Amino acid sequence: MNLVLFGPPGAGKGTQSKIITEKRGLPQLSTGDMLRAAIEAGTPLGLSVKATMARGELVSDETVIGIIAERYDQPDCRHGAVFDGFPRTIPQAEALDAMLAERGKKIDLVLELKVDDAVLLSRVEARIKAGGVLRSDDTPETLAHRLGVYYKNTAPLLDFYRAQGKLKSVDGMAPVEAVTAQVGAVLDGVQA
Ligand code: AMP
Repeated sequence: MNLVLFGPPGAGKGTQSKIITEKRGLPQLSTGDMLRAAIEAGTPLGLSVKATMARGELVSDETVIGIIAERYDQPDCRHGAVFDGFPRTIPQAEALDAMLAERGKKIDLVLELKVDDAVLLSRVEARIKAGGVLRSDDTPETLAHRLGVYYKNTAPLLDFYRAQGKLKSVDGMAPVEAVTAQVGAVLDGVQA
């Protein structure tokens, strides 16, 4: 199964992706994690995206499409993957459809975690209280900017996938275990 986990920054996509990986063996393909790893390793890619990411802006479509295509061709993705934080623009979604079609695959489901802006903000504040700023883009100020980017560039994908009949939504504001249960029920329905 190829699954897109969808939602605003801080909705819990990473948390739910990891649980799906553990329970169902589908690898998590997080462009954010891959870009952060490149920054950490000091590669040319990392150097080229560092400032853009710190500002909470999107890196270029070509950059993320390239890293996703390379990652998807690894053997652990042969039964599918969980796309986390990708696609974030219509051109990325079109490129993903084309990449999968070339390989005889398709997106089976787009699962939206619905979370209100106020809840996202209170989560950032709670993370900072608990551990300080661990990610340079995980501050209330940068979150506000990232949310603006989300509504402008990424939220239009909801209509794109709704039109394909692939969109399902769950309440991402419930406690983590309850979100996990809802996600599991939707996935069981698709796999059945
Ligand atoms: P994330 O960890 O998914 O929240 O991503 C962190 C940052 O990485 C984003 O704010 C962007 O700067 C960059 N990024 C991650 N995924 C993408 C993507 N699909 N398209 C463009 N930029 C991305």
